[in-house]
Amino acid sequence: RTVYLNGDYLPETEAKVSIFDRAFLMADGIYEVTSVLEGKLIDFPGHATRLQRSLSELDLRAPCTMEELLEIHRELIRVNEITEGLVYLQITRGAPGDRDFVFPDPETTEPTIVLFTQNKPGLATSPMADTGMKIISIEDQRWGRRDIKTVQLLYPSMGKMMAKKAGCDDAWMVEDGFVTEGTSNNAYIVKGNKIITRALSNDILHGITRAAVLRFATEAQMEVEERNFSIEEAQGADEAFITSASAFVMPVVEIDGTAVGDGKPGHRAKRLREIYLEESLKMAI
Ligand code: PLP
Repeated sequence: RTVYLNGDYLPETEAKVSIFDRAFLMADGIYEVTSVLEGKLIDFPGHATRLQRSLSELDLRAPCTMEELLEIHRELIRVNEITEGLVYLQITRGAPGDRDFVFPDPETTEPTIVLFTQNKPGLATSPMADTGMKIISIEDQRWGRRDIKTVQLLYPSMGKMMAKKAGCDDAWMVEDGFVTEGTSNNAYIVKGNKIITRALSNDILHGITRAAVLRFATEAQMEVEERNFSIEEAQGADEAFITSASAFVMPVVEIDGTAVGDGKPGHRAKRLREIYLEESLKMAI
């Protein structure tokens, strides 16, 4: 696989980063994951906009323009012959000569930028879309700026492991009695014609897929309500689902051992998945 590192396209085995890189020592970096369908990027402008926001919230410098970034994404898709898969992008505060809590002088330390592709044939035709996901709930023990897409993914990773040990597919995190989001996705319930999801704040990541799906839901005459919900309310809802750039819209059929609705993927979640795949492909670049 060919990867991109600080201006160069290299074989993955030749791409090396300093041990002093602040992402390695302090998780001082941000990332984006954009899906590729039919060889094209899904909602690149959405990801580029969020990337710029993450950079500015952490006082990180963009190592290139968003147009150049698009070209790098496209070149990697081309050379690695990706039809269905993901492009991972990470920007870190770079590698000063030593470990220090204080941010290095941006005049002397260049940010590190890394991109690589992940080939995922069948990404859009995952069997999980037909069976639905089983979810456990866990306490949300992450930091307070979850709106910034940082590479601090240890707690979400632990959450996935807890789900796996429980024989489930993912975990929804709960804070003060209400669901924040999934370990790597936004969480929704459906009651009647209403799609309910937590409102945007520093408590959750502002999902690019979330923004698109809520728009499509409104266009499809569904009602959207942005408010908190509990695990108990979700267990008693008609349907539940999650969204993310790599899972698109994925139905949830069980929460903490309780079936949601009739225990099968709900028709609104299925419809939103169809609409999302169809509409976002039309706009893919
Ligand atoms: N919430 C969290 C914590 C995530 O890590 C992600 C994606 O990685 C999402 C939500 C979904 O965001 P997006 O739709 O932009 O992929």
